[in-house]
Amino acid sequence: MKFADLHLHTHFSDGTFSPEELAGHGQRLGFAAMALTDHDSVEGCARMAEVCGAAGIEFISGAELTAEHNDTELHLLGYFLDTHNEKLLADIGRFQAVRQNRIREMVARLNELNVPLQVETVFALANCKSPGRPHVARALVKAGLCKSLDEAFERFLKKNRPAWVPKAKMSALEGVELIHRAGGLAVMAHPGLNRTDDVIPVLVEAGLDGIECFHTKHSPAMSARYLEIADKFHLLVTGGSDCHGFSKGKPLIGTVKLPYEHVEKLKAAVSRKAVEPLNR
Ligand code: AMP
Ligand code: FE
Ligand code: FE
Ligand code: ZN
Repeated sequence: MKFADLHLHTHFSDGTFSPEELAGHGQRLGFAAMALTDHDSVEGCARMAEVCGAAGIEFISGAELTAEHNDTELHLLGYFLDTHNEKLLADIGRFQAVRQNRIREMVARLNELNVPLQVETVFALANCKSPGRPHVARALVKAGLCKSLDEAFERFLKKNRPAWVPKAKMSALEGVELIHRAGGLAVMAHPGLNRTDDVIPVLVEAGLDGIECFHTKHSPAMSARYLEIADKFHLLVTGGSDCHGFSKGKPLIGTVKLPYEHVEKLKAAVSRKAVEPLNR
């Protein structure tokens, strides 16, 4: 049976794998298709397409956008994105700048707490345009200021902890529109993690195409629940491991194997839509 992993991160955001390493693992595990969904970035897609092609793996370009609706944070996956779409690049560029400024603020807070971390250290370690809290956590561990990533999050970086800084997010409705304008399909990521069930009908109304039913952190009961919701709202079904490499312990790739029939449905939907990307 053919299967896919449609939720993967590289070092172009907060994953630790390069596209080459990720495709290598995909090939070893026998994946027929993979999508790259770095946070607020499509930068790794070109290289990932190339290495997947060489490995005989079908590649789907994507991104994971951090969004919100009425103060509820949710993550939107965009698939089959035109990674050269100007509006997409401009908008995610703005959110990359937000992420970079947030790193500066978090480090300033750490310094106020007498934790002598330098912002240059974090940026050097992150080495990407879309840095996040995991990079601060890794820098804290590397500098010997925390023993583990967990400690870094627990003491400083988790929501409402002393070095946590809220992040300005794009509105979920704008996120769906942005993905559509870039020719993509908009999918709600890991709904079981974000308590976003009330938002589903709102996003469906806005044109949401799919929902991530299968995710490493979804229990079988959660997956079943979201499969029912997908059925009810006529949504496409996706799934992926959300692998961040060694960022959070063991690499997760291989934990979710989405049956390939769902990839076929996604491809049919995107070609049916043939959304004419605006502002190319
Ligand atoms: P950010 O986008 O900067 O807010 O960071 C979010 C990233 O941090 C996501 O990839 C999360 O999975 C990760 N993260 C959140 N909480 C923790 C935690 N307690 N331990 C490790 N990683 C975490
Ligand atoms: Fe992440
Ligand atoms: Fe996410
Ligand atoms: Zn993710």
